[in-house]
Amino acid sequence: MDFDLNSDQVMVRNMARDFAAKEILPTAAEDDTNEHYRPETTEKMAALGLLGAPLPQEYGGAGFDYISYLLICEEIARASAGVFTTCLTVQTSLFQLPILRFGSQELKQKYLPRTTKGELLGCFAMTETGSGSDVAATETSARLDGDKWVLNGSKMWISNGGIADVALVFAQTDKAKLHRGITAFLVERKTPGFSSRNIHNKLGLRDSNTAEIVLHDCVVPAENILGGSGDGFKVGMYALDCARLSTAAACVGVGQAAIDAAVKYARERKQFGKPIGGFQLIQEMVADMVTETEVARYFVYRAGDLKEKDRPFVREASIAKYYAAEAAVRTAQKAIKIHGGYGYSNEYPVGRLLRDAVGLQLYEGTAEIQKLIIGRETLGIAAFV
Ligand SMILES: Cc1cc2nc3c(=O)[nH]c(=O)nc-3n(C[C@H](O)[C@H](O)[C@H](O)COP(=O)(O)OP(=O)(O)OC[C@H]3O[C@@H](n4cnc5c(N)ncnc54)[C@H](O)[C@@H]3O)c2cc1C
Repeated sequence: MDFDLNSDQVMVRNMARDFAAKEILPTAAEDDTNEHYRPETTEKMAALGLLGAPLPQEYGGAGFDYISYLLICEEIARASAGVFTTCLTVQTSLFQLPILRFGSQELKQKYLPRTTKGELLGCFAMTETGSGSDVAATETSARLDGDKWVLNGSKMWISNGGIADVALVFAQTDKAKLHRGITAFLVERKTPGFSSRNIHNKLGLRDSNTAEIVLHDCVVPAENILGGSGDGFKVGMYALDCARLSTAAACVGVGQAAIDAAVKYARERKQFGKPIGGFQLIQEMVADMVTETEVARYFVYRAGDLKEKDRPFVREASIAKYYAAEAAVRTAQKAIKIHGGYGYSNEYPVGRLLRDAVGLQLYEGTAEIQKLIIGRETLGIAAFV
């Protein structure tokens, strides 16, 4: 077993790290306060090949391996988990990768090159007010009218929902079949009847856009379906498996940022005549933070390696997401403790890191849902029995 990154992976990681330090971190606190998304960051990431990193070059991607993509996720989230949300887990894992896997040749050509160039932003619209963890409860409907589908319903908590040009929308085409009746449609914002309303004052991930999407008699051509009619659940679960892996990597990035901040502060802050880093109880907290973040990092690499080799990775992606998100929350909490009273203000990044880590813990399946998947996969029990 080789635990070393190869030279290409090190180069990609360093490129993403330098970019994040120079172009994202300097405004991360300000953008968190102002709930501000910067389209120019997306454009700059596209120019570096960071908007479709694991996609083949024939579709405009950078053709990087999956571990390289996860390294990019970690480094971008280390600066801002909001930018990671907008440009990586949504644009690539939840939008581009399901199109690559389930889209027709026409859909791939139509959407993938333009999303890698940053000309189009995507979003993944599954959650509804009454359907979060329980995807089979989807109420948004699609009915066939001639050779077109007519969509009605609304989607809640959609990252990029207020700014995306195209939405991957999950709708019931045969409600009696529950999850087997769900179909995945690509719906363009310019479609008459498509509207969105931004959600403000989120606790974290505030520099990423989140919105409610409303679909009122939206007419969508039949060729805009991913897979076939009734394949939506399969499409959605594949996208979520990919996204859980990228979000687990982002949690490692947030944990690393918390360690960076805590170590810097513990070296500088003096109490009782010496730097607080000299106290063993502070060292114990740092040791726990580093251990948990390193463990999470190897879970991510392990699952990423399986995905890269096209082997089953569902259970490992859920283990990585579950553990890395819990570890990021605990690590950020310890970073706040090490900062004492100053950690409880926006003067230091640690409060933002905790708020962001809690958001990463929630989306793409809560901790409880990850545990259900790990248990089911281990026992060999299907999701709907
Ligand atoms: C910042 C943010 C961005 C998001 N972005 C997107 C997006 O881009 N696209 C999208 O479609 N959705 C998105 N979501 C929605 C997110 O995926 C859901 O919030 C999440 O899946 C949980 O659904 P819910 O909020 O309806 O909670 P519920 O499903 O109502 O869960 C409430 C609680 O019950 C628990 N629970 C539920 N079922 C079970 C069970 N069977 N056993 C044990 N416990 C259970 C949950 O773990 C949770 O603790 C986003 C959410 C947030 C906060």
